[in-house]
Amino acid sequence: MMYYINKMKLTNYYIKYKSSHNNKYLVNTLTGKINVIQDNLYEDFTRIENGELNIHNKSLDFFIQNQYLCNDRDEFNLINFAFEKFQKHIQKHLAIFLYITYDCNLMCTYCNYKYIDEGKNTMSEIKIDYAFEAIAKLIKDSEQEEITFILFGGEPFLNKNKEILFSFLDKYSRFKLQNSSKKHKLITFTNGIEIPLFITKHIDYLRIFDSIYITLGGSKLSHNRARIFPNNKGSYDFVINGVNKLLTENIPVWLVFNSSKSNVNELADINSLIKLNKWDQCCSFLGCCVSRIKSRGMIGIIETYTEQELIYDVSRLIEEKQIDQSLFNFEDMRILKNIERLFLLPDENKDFHQFYGCGNRINQYSFTPDGKIYPCSPSAGKEKYFIGEFYPSFSIKNEHGHLWTYNNVFHLEKCKTCSMAFLCAGGCQYSAREKMHNEKKENYIPDCMDAVQIVYAYIEAVEKNINITNSETIYERL
Ligand code: SF4
Ligand code: SF4
Repeated sequence: MMYYINKMKLTNYYIKYKSSHNNKYLVNTLTGKINVIQDNLYEDFTRIENGELNIHNKSLDFFIQNQYLCNDRDEFNLINFAFEKFQKHIQKHLAIFLYITYDCNLMCTYCNYKYIDEGKNTMSEIKIDYAFEAIAKLIKDSEQEEITFILFGGEPFLNKNKEILFSFLDKYSRFKLQNSSKKHKLITFTNGIEIPLFITKHIDYLRIFDSIYITLGGSKLSHNRARIFPNNKGSYDFVINGVNKLLTENIPVWLVFNSSKSNVNELADINSLIKLNKWDQCCSFLGCCVSRIKSRGMIGIIETYTEQELIYDVSRLIEEKQIDQSLFNFEDMRILKNIERLFLLPDENKDFHQFYGCGNRINQYSFTPDGKIYPCSPSAGKEKYFIGEFYPSFSIKNEHGHLWTYNNVFHLEKCKTCSMAFLCAGGCQYSAREKMHNEKKENYIPDCMDAVQIVYAYIEAVEKNINITNSETIYERL
């Protein structure tokens, strides 16, 4: 039963937290108000949570003023106002992942794309033409101001595929000119192995990229255990050579490290590597992007590394001076980004609300070598998830069973009343679908990550003056 006091109800959208420094916080996750409160207010708030009616008037005034106690109409208006603002910028950025090939020169032990059939491997020139035509249709008459192309794989830099790669780059340059009213960015993910070949003979093509992301598996030992050639030999030295060569040519490079509970300490090895090679003194070295390993229901990957776990681990590494935080970007923190916006934006511009878990089917698409379009990169190549095609003709299907964008804070029962509703907005839909046994709408359960724990971890880090650097380099905020 809803609890009312002075005709006001206690909002769902708050977080109460006592930090390890004994500071007491109330955060209104709808208005964005952050209050560090005294003991008496903290105790009175706890009384309200417990349904007690006998509360000091001063405390009541404070809770009403800061909208912890509110009425339904005001709350409804606040949500609508935030949703209108959200819709205005929702379509401003488009991210296109283009899988030029599924083929690869490594056989990493943890490869995501082992399920892909042989025979659908590399895009043909005609498919690249069709892909650009489809993208032109996607952006036609739309409000998108920025388009990021992410050249993906497989391994995009295979010498044997160089003609098709160059064809893509020529067509990309033309597309950019034809759509010069938009901002464009081209990035790519590579293992770096064959990069030196391209530097020697085709450096101008490499200069088309705004930045190149090269994956490193941590220390030499760990890297060589997982990122192996078909003959089981490790690829570490080739990767380091690739990075060095790109930096010598002043081509912007990000390292990429996939972190988990068991390897996070290897950030210290990467830190030492960067210093040893003096990469940090090179203006085209952009740093190391740290992402998280997520199981997303995948058989064989049992470990999911949560945002709060990464925050606590990174705080410890920074405190112990094992890593220099300025060298790392913890980009893969979907909810932390929104929490930081809530905490750091000025009161008059608290523009942090999210209404969808992510931008799949809204502002990101993945184009694969078989001519299909998928809603997001982890789902690419899993046929049950394709949402359209660009070859032999362009079409985007209506949503099947309302299983993607339908799953937002307005429709998911669990999320409607969650204190983190406008910071998490329903979680990863791909992960939820991977864990479902039957894809009926009524069976959908969000893959809930207990997001309030991320706020606690964030507050603990801030109280130690630790800033977990977290800036967007690929996606833009929804
Ligand atoms: S997925 Fe979980 S944390 Fe996220 S909004 Fe829904 S209930 Fe809240
Ligand atoms: S559905 Fe999940 S995996 Fe796909 S883009 Fe969204 S958050 Fe990422």
